[in-house]
Amino acid sequence: PDKVMNKLVSLAKRRGFIFPSSEIYGGLSSCFDYGPLGSEMKKNIKDLWWNAMTRRHQNIVGLDASIMMNPTVWEASGHVASFNDPLIDDKTTKRRYRADHLIENHIEKLHREGKEAEAAAVKVAYEAAEGTEDPNRTLYNIIIESGIKAPDTGSADWTEVRQFNLMFQCNMGAIAGSGGVVYLRPETAQGIFVNFHNVREASRMKVPFGIAQIGKAFRNEIVKGNFIFRMVEFEQMEMQYFVKPGTQLEAFEAWREERFRWYSETLGMTKEKLHWYKHDKLAHYADLAYDIKFEFPFGTEEIEGIHSRTDFDLTQHQEYSGKSMEYIDQTTNERYIPYVVETSSGCDRTFLALLSDAYQEDVVDGEPRVMLKLAPKVAPVKAAVLPLMKKGEMAEKARQLCAALSESFMVQYDDAASIGKRYRRQDEIGTPFCFTVDHDTLENGTITVRYRDTAAQERIEMSKAAEFLASKLV
Ligand code: ATP
Repeated sequence: PDKVMNKLVSLAKRRGFIFPSSEIYGGLSSCFDYGPLGSEMKKNIKDLWWNAMTRRHQNIVGLDASIMMNPTVWEASGHVASFNDPLIDDKTTKRRYRADHLIENHIEKLHREGKEAEAAAVKVAYEAAEGTEDPNRTLYNIIIESGIKAPDTGSADWTEVRQFNLMFQCNMGAIAGSGGVVYLRPETAQGIFVNFHNVREASRMKVPFGIAQIGKAFRNEIVKGNFIFRMVEFEQMEMQYFVKPGTQLEAFEAWREERFRWYSETLGMTKEKLHWYKHDKLAHYADLAYDIKFEFPFGTEEIEGIHSRTDFDLTQHQEYSGKSMEYIDQTTNERYIPYVVETSSGCDRTFLALLSDAYQEDVVDGEPRVMLKLAPKVAPVKAAVLPLMKKGEMAEKARQLCAALSESFMVQYDDAASIGKRYRRQDEIGTPFCFTVDHDTLENGTITVRYRDTAAQERIEMSKAAEFLASKLV
């Protein structure tokens, strides 16, 4: 798995998908920059999500809320008090781990070894931990009693478990001091909740309706790693769907299905690598929670959470702001605080899932090649225009074709090196089609289409190239 990840990281850097942040200064842990192709592909993902939500649903509208908000928002939401990770240190190496992750991995290991009774016992204790008088102590005891060792060293010399708040704090205004503390949002959802009435009124929405938002979120994650899987600054694509209490489970099921299809059908991810994970241990405000997980090279991990959050958030904001969060149904005159079904996807994790799913090595025309088998909709470059000759009429025709296609599609012009080399350059960045302008183009106005996946070629009329591309992108 490390080998696969190393290949992905190196391809991503070499071809301009992802660079380490501020690399000339040695980088910054868990921060990355999206390069020319990466930013293009990320934009495609976000557009596909945005369209699937707002364009395809008359009752879902968009929002772009600010990253910094009135700090009371985060008191109301519970983040100040409890957006914590339980951490534990290995005294020998001073390495820090998430206590909950250590226990969850241990339970999985017991399952794999067929020790079902033991796994069940640890699980019961773990799930009850939050309700105990000293949850940190309980987690610590579980780790000690189960003999859980540090994954890297096998040592079991643990410190106590401590809670660590994940929110980044900064100071607003000229004078630093506790009065000016603001937070970088750790999720985009709260911007949606506090705008519930603004959006509802402005766009005349009736329950059920949804608010969709794409934006940066920040978490001071202590345990980092796995490239862009876990970052301190990342992008979320969230949609909060407001429903009448009592109808949330029906809405939940519908969204669960729709979101799964978005990954498998719209983005073209391998269906067999997508899995459901049902939360047994629910947050106190949730009445149902599932994650969509993807088989990454380093393990099967979450890419999206779908949660039935009840009326928790709106009720909290009503209490803290003193403003009513009730909805009045105009037809029945019923008043209630809506329930929320949320779909919360990570753009960067989706990106990484697509990249690792697409990476392939094969042999074409007797030569090994690397290919990103990305769906045309996701691929950063839709087509490359390749003239057989660098100069003269062929180049002129190719330039014309490139300019015409550029009106609607991201295309690349490449006239450097042999045609075989140029095909491989495009294969490696996932370009699904190459258009070659050659002698026949000058004679009869046709070009060659070369397909990335099969390396098969066919001739089409140059004037039909745009139509051809459009038909592959629906
Ligand atoms: P995890 O358990 O992996 O920390 P989470 O359950 O805390 O994730 P949520 O709060 O449900 O995550 O956030 C919704 C989505 O946001 C996740 O499914 C994930 O795709 C993305 N996300 C959360 N934290 C990060 C991060 N540190 N880096 C990149 N993406 C993240």
